[in-house]
Amino acid sequence: MRLHVVSFGCQMSVADGGEMAAPLLARGFRAVAGPEDADAIVLNTCTVRQHAEDKALSMIGRLREWKEASPDRVLIVAGCAAERLGGWIRTRFPHVDLVVGAKSIEDYPAIVSQALAAKFDALRETREAFASVSPGAAPPEAPVGWTSAVVAPVTIMRGCNYSCSYCIVPAVRGRESYRPYETVLAEIRAKAALGAREILLLGQTVNSWRARGADGRERRFADLLGAAASVDGVARVRFESPHPRYLDDAFAAAFAALPQAGEHIHMPVQSGSDRVLALMRRNYTAASFLEKIARLRAAVPAIEVSTDIIVGFPSETDADFERTLELVGSLRPASAYTFKYSPREGTESAGMPDDVPEAVKEERLARLNALCDGLAESALKSRIGRTVEVLDENGGYGRTRDGFRVKWGSPAEPGRLLRVRVTGTMKRTLLGEIDEQR
Ligand code: SAM
Ligand code: SF4
Repeated sequence: MRLHVVSFGCQMSVADGGEMAAPLLARGFRAVAGPEDADAIVLNTCTVRQHAEDKALSMIGRLREWKEASPDRVLIVAGCAAERLGGWIRTRFPHVDLVVGAKSIEDYPAIVSQALAAKFDALRETREAFASVSPGAAPPEAPVGWTSAVVAPVTIMRGCNYSCSYCIVPAVRGRESYRPYETVLAEIRAKAALGAREILLLGQTVNSWRARGADGRERRFADLLGAAASVDGVARVRFESPHPRYLDDAFAAAFAALPQAGEHIHMPVQSGSDRVLALMRRNYTAASFLEKIARLRAAVPAIEVSTDIIVGFPSETDADFERTLELVGSLRPASAYTFKYSPREGTESAGMPDDVPEAVKEERLARLNALCDGLAESALKSRIGRTVEVLDENGGYGRTRDGFRVKWGSPAEPGRLLRVRVTGTMKRTLLGEIDEQR
């Protein structure tokens, strides 16, 4: 029996896809890279922006034919859009077998077993009876939900206690809950035993994580980062997305003292205008955000920062947008994910007029992207001639300690830390050749 998992959206969604595959893999499924020969598909949806939601819904529609080709096939729709639109999805797409919203991920294994056990058992019998079915696509090299065969996500918290006015995440993922310290460490050990060399700790405000260990002692995020780094086999630990509120001097010092944490942080800023940041309910100003980053850079001088930015938030003026460009000029992000504001039903800002015309959103996005591309290019070019440490993630492809992608020729050895001399750049990637191996 073959399982295909497809996840839309953020890293957390991709990691959830891996968790949702687990009970099916335990029932004897094996993962395949494409839907064609799959017996079951888990389609993990995103609803953060309308565009992401539309892509997932259109894929559900396209899978009608796949499902009708063999009624034994199983289609499970999960994730954030499933949470928001569950009832509608059931009615609009009757070929979907099971809809499981993002809030139910902890209960998902039980839901799947109860709802679909009979069907899966029938499916297994059918498969065994027709042993001559054509072989499916080769299994993906990386376990489902992993970024590569050596980079594994570990979800440490779910939900979000913030109420950024544009954001639907708290509605579809619920309030924050932190996974216990020992559970997280056990998962890291298990993933390291499966070959993970880099651990990506995930949460919507990942650095707000705290939990009391079995010994009664409270652990903060910096403690968890240190403990993750000391697990046997783990060469690197990264995390996403931190919130500036929890970025204090103690965290900066812990980060600086941890070689496995590298020199990169992804910290979404969203806007450079204090007026817009207040309307967004981000709880910081442009100056206080930059001040936090300055303190981090004082502790970790080589650190590279990447960020998320929204343009065209309701009432955003040209002057507000200029503040965003100024902030980007000061922050100098190595890369940025930039988005046009997308109103989400039920959020606070959906009650505000979406009054920035589409053409203006487009133009602001293009100007912002041009600025960010220029900064990224100069960061990339400044590395030419340097020798950098790279974790080989995928046979001749990996990332530097400060988060840049690198491609080189041979030798390729996933999981090895290599020294690569940078010889050039291609788009957003450094090109190089091996310097020495260790
Ligand atoms: N928790 C993270 C934080 O607070 O920084 C961000 C999580 S969100 C899933 C990822 C990114 O999507 C956000 O940083 C924001 O830039 C973008 N985003 C969220 N809601 C959006 C909306 N309504 N329109 C456009 N972009 C949005
Ligand atoms: Fe959304 Fe804000 Fe929570 Fe991030 S912190 S998930 S943007 S509400």
